Amino acid sequence: MKTLSTMKLTGKRVFLRVDFNVPLKGTKITDDLRIQNALPTIRKILAAKPEQLIIATHLGRPEPGKGSAGLLPYSLAPVAKHLSKLLKKTIYFHANALAPIESKDKIVLLENLRFYDGEKNGSLSFAKTLASHADIYIDDAFGTAHRKDASVYALAKLLPSGIGLLMEQELRYVSLDHKRPIVAIFGAAKIKDKLPLFKKLLAKVDKLILGGGVVFTFLKAGGIEVGKSLVEEEMVSEARTLLKKYAGKIVFPTDFVGSTPASFKNWIKLSATEKKAALKTVPVEAIPKTLACYDVGPKSVKLFTAVLKNAKTVVWNGPLGVFEVKPYDASTNKLVKIIAESKITSIVGGGDTASAVRKTKYANRFTHISTGGGASLELLAGNKLPAIEVLKR
Ligand code: AMP
Repeated sequence: MKTLSTMKLTGKRVFLRVDFNVPLKGTKITDDLRIQNALPTIRKILAAKPEQLIIATHLGRPEPGKGSAGLLPYSLAPVAKHLSKLLKKTIYFHANALAPIESKDKIVLLENLRFYDGEKNGSLSFAKTLASHADIYIDDAFGTAHRKDASVYALAKLLPSGIGLLMEQELRYVSLDHKRPIVAIFGAAKIKDKLPLFKKLLAKVDKLILGGGVVFTFLKAGGIEVGKSLVEEEMVSEARTLLKKYAGKIVFPTDFVGSTPASFKNWIKLSATEKKAALKTVPVEAIPKTLACYDVGPKSVKLFTAVLKNAKTVVWNGPLGVFEVKPYDASTNKLVKIIAESKITSIVGGGDTASAVRKTKYANRFTHISTGGGASLELLAGNKLPAIEVLKR
């Protein structure tokens, strides 16, 4: 695969696919991390003095077919302004991504590609129109690399192609090609959608710590009372099969923290005293029928710490509890600190786990925090990413 260092960009029209899928409130970008992450690539391309730099991304999930509607909160107009501020350069916002681009506009941001039917359909004719804007294609959108959207797949076949700096980093770190023993931490809300990936990951790692919502389906499969905690009934039998096959590999929490679902529903309205009264810490073998567990308990964190002491690498996908609601972020935060202060190689999958780690002061002590949730789990499970494979020509 070609990289920025091995491609000749000078005097060329460069098409850069980034992941600027940032959260917006109206026209305000509430977290610009994804834009910041792309700056090294943008700066490196600009340093090579291309004829033009055309930047493109998707943003959210607008209804396709809206064309150049400029519809908020999906329009990239606010992102163009913000990018201009960060780079201290003029960014030309191209509201109709399909219309020809004037050569005087040196740095261009196209309108949200998902306004067009062709993007999600992987349409070749849509990709051809995008290709007509440029001579070279660079993909730096790791978060979309597990998809076959037109701008990351069909387009890459039409132009000489390579990857950006962020993509290089992701591909270097997000794998199980690290020192063993490798421990995975898996804490998704539900198992159903992720089952094929989960099975592959489980087969490949040395130990797998189970937390999050998924753990209760497995506990139920093992005949343990889980009260009102999250259970996917249709997955219990599959979980039972996995329990038998990987008996020594899965590490289960030994205690949990929770409350009644009714208290949880009103959590933000409860006073500190009411919260304290509602909160129960219980051992795994004695979860009351009325209790829903929203986090693993302190004894589990001790057990997980001991497991991690023997590891050389940890790959983390999914928080241990409902980290969005205090105090159910406690075990996740504790484990973040423990991993950060250890010497093990630490790879954090994107999505929720990345946000949970970034909320703490320890983010910079992790080896790698991925920018792609789905894409990183695919890679860790050993799957190929379509948008990467297409570049290996
Ligand atoms: P996912 O969306 O599959 O990546 O899983 C992350 C989500 O799982 C987060 O939003 C957590 O709030 C949620 N989660 C973690 N622990 C639990 C739990 N014990 N019960 C319900 N949801 C949970």
